[in-house]
Amino acid sequence: MVPVHLKKGYRLRIAGAPSPQSSGLTKPAHVAAVPERIPFVKPRLRVKVNDRVQVGSLLFEDKRNPDIQFLSPGGGKVVKIGLGPRRVIQEIVIELDEEESFRELQAFSESDLEAADGKDIVQAIIEGGLWPLIRMLPFRDWPDPKTTPPYVFVTVGNLEPFHPRPEIFLNGREDLFRFGVKILNRLTDGQVYVGASQRDDVVISEFEDLITHTYRGDYPAHDAGVLLYHTKSAPSDNRTWYIDAQDLLLLAELLQTGRYPTRRTVVLAGSMANQRQHYQTRIGVPLRHLMEDRAEEGDIRCIAGGILTGYTSSKDSFLGIFETGLNLLPAGNEREVLASFQPGFRKPSYSRTFLSAFNRGDFVMNCNIHGGVRACIACNHCPDVCPVDILPQLTYKCILVEAVEESLAHGLLDCVECGLCSYVCPSKIELLDTLRNAKAAYYKEQA
Ligand code: SF4
Ligand code: SF4
Repeated sequence: MVPVHLKKGYRLRIAGAPSPQSSGLTKPAHVAAVPERIPFVKPRLRVKVNDRVQVGSLLFEDKRNPDIQFLSPGGGKVVKIGLGPRRVIQEIVIELDEEESFRELQAFSESDLEAADGKDIVQAIIEGGLWPLIRMLPFRDWPDPKTTPPYVFVTVGNLEPFHPRPEIFLNGREDLFRFGVKILNRLTDGQVYVGASQRDDVVISEFEDLITHTYRGDYPAHDAGVLLYHTKSAPSDNRTWYIDAQDLLLLAELLQTGRYPTRRTVVLAGSMANQRQHYQTRIGVPLRHLMEDRAEEGDIRCIAGGILTGYTSSKDSFLGIFETGLNLLPAGNEREVLASFQPGFRKPSYSRTFLSAFNRGDFVMNCNIHGGVRACIACNHCPDVCPVDILPQLTYKCILVEAVEESLAHGLLDCVECGLCSYVCPSKIELLDTLRNAKAAYYKEQA
């Protein structure tokens, strides 16, 4: 096992962590696909309202490559296609039948998998609608199915607050995970890397034979881009593919059963949730179904996904295929009275400006940014936490003056989009959005 010790990064001490307890939710009345929150996709609808669909029926495809398809996470009737500004497809809502029917796809036994041609396995994943779960560095789009990667990285666990714990979602599904790793082995001529936290003793002892990397450190030490940055030996390694361990379970279930998988372990967390724990539910679950009787009264901000990298969502929205957490935070719309005279013992801050520097507890985080964007004060907090040694403030300035070459020279493509630079910036500069958009623009230009 290759040990990776990330000395930078940051441990966010945010109140509202979920407990390791896990329980099942009842079946929701509706589920949905949420194209709006899938990065890079240009969706072309293939259903209309009132169409009947099975679990695994085609809902929409990617205009860039129509072979990349997104399938229905439920069986029933399409009851709503939500369109946003400029007719962006926000969600496709399916009212579930009591007895859902499944579209049957190709299934593979262990021996089928060994005997099959790699191209057939790729085709089965594409037809099963799960190819987009595999991502390619550095842009994090899904890879071209005709290419093969130097390595495939499986990240077990996510250190961003708050995501499901691997010992919970892998519990009882160890063989499925091993099957998933065998699938990945058929997609690469190189090696499958599996990275786990040195603190996850249960996972390490269970999968000792599979784990190739162990990481130590704070968020985002788990990220495939970070692990690769600290271990890569050749420029071609930058094209490594990666997949999250829970997504790998979906992939394995698809090929093992020949049916589009629907099961998902998600967490409900954040200081405004009052039953913070893991829940067994399904892809596309309505946020209201998750929150029902489990949220405090008050002005709540719902974040689908992790606290730094997730999406602000309305309570009427749904969890998309890539989202495994719902974090409920106070909206923080109230004005603080005499804020400048308060010592800030309970105010989360990276800088040691407030008395919270002496507070060892977790902090209630809200969505108030306490003032508007100000000029960079060259405090150097952002490079202090950047896990891939970028100077975010200088890269940001290069992007603003459209100096593309300079921003690349500063390591723009190494950015793992963790959001720590924006979080610690006392001037509230949107470093993450700027760097992420610049990366995406460069990618489109290259494509
Ligand atoms: S520059 Fe990128 S990798 Fe570095 S802290 Fe910011 S978002 Fe994270
Ligand atoms: S954290 Fe913000 S203010 Fe400080 S150097 Fe970075 S961009 Fe400038």
